[in-house]
Amino acid sequence: MLKDRFGRIHDYLRISITDKCNLRCTYCNPVDLPKGYFSGCTKMTVAEIEKMASLFVQQGIKKIRLTGGEPLVRKDAREIIERLSKYPVELTITTNGVFVHEYIDVFKAAGIKSVNVSLDSLNKKTFFDITGRNEFERVMQNIELLLEKDFYVKINSVIIKGINDEEIPRFIEWTKYRPVHVRFIEFMPFAGNDWSGGKIFSYQEMLKLISSQFDFIKLPDEKSQTAKKYLVPGYKGTFAVISTMTQPFCSDCNRLRLTTDGKMKNCLFSKKETDLLSALRAGEDIAPLIRQCLFQKEEAMGGQFTDDIENMDASAIQNRSMINIGG
Ligand code: SAM
Repeated sequence: MLKDRFGRIHDYLRISITDKCNLRCTYCNPVDLPKGYFSGCTKMTVAEIEKMASLFVQQGIKKIRLTGGEPLVRKDAREIIERLSKYPVELTITTNGVFVHEYIDVFKAAGIKSVNVSLDSLNKKTFFDITGRNEFERVMQNIELLLEKDFYVKINSVIIKGINDEEIPRFIEWTKYRPVHVRFIEFMPFAGNDWSGGKIFSYQEMLKLISSQFDFIKLPDEKSQTAKKYLVPGYKGTFAVISTMTQPFCSDCNRLRLTTDGKMKNCLFSKKETDLLSALRAGEDIAPLIRQCLFQKEEAMGGQFTDDIENMDASAIQNRSMINIGG
């Protein structure tokens, strides 16, 4: 069992399988990313991803989420999904949705039940402004395809003040007709993403806006869930808020991360990374390294955040960009 100094049991691993992405979302990619950017990092091979996953499963991991970059741009994503489906874990994936139609059969065959699709706007132009790509229709079609094929579909929307906060009611209106589970995420700071406290559209602001237009009820919180869930009675879907910035949920965190270059992070905001890939390639036993990394986990937010979020200096936070960590 993977237990940290604070008694938190970690049974959920997010594996980034690439740091490349076909979209250029402003909050995720470093703003100064050059055209044709290629990080050039040493990536885990399919066999190494499987080996890492099997070692984590031996240590008590029960759920694995594949992420990136965009996981479905990796050429051998199919093989990775197939190989990991053989392990006794809940396998799941976070994607921008653009290539879902090419993988839907692989998802089914691998026993994936729930897929997270990122979508920050229901407006084609705003979608383009945020992502830099004209893929709105394809993403919407693929969300419908997932629903048709009976997947549980969660929609991740990063809400940035002045960019898409006004769209929150429209997203909720969508849940009236379609069984989608929309999660509004507070904007988080990462290297090069031009974050400032003033751009956060907070959990409280979201609830105020929503309650001016909808009557809704709170759904019970599940253990280690990041999302606070709500339902408008009679609607087919639900909505939720992921309040990482204004009401973090570190006290029962169960998450660990592995970057595409094989570094373990004990928190999304951890300064330190543990190089598991080099150790694996050197033939070392990585189980003690996993435990050591977990033992160093801070109580909250990688130990890097101040209480005054609104005025926090994001440049003082030592971390990679989100595309590079794996969201
Ligand atoms: N490409 C995939 C996708 O689009 O879902 C997976 C990777 S993406 C980094 C994973 C999630 O991180 C997405 O839902 C994205 O919206 C979220 N994310 C990225 N940067 C963020 C930020 N600065 N604040 C909040 N969420 C962020």
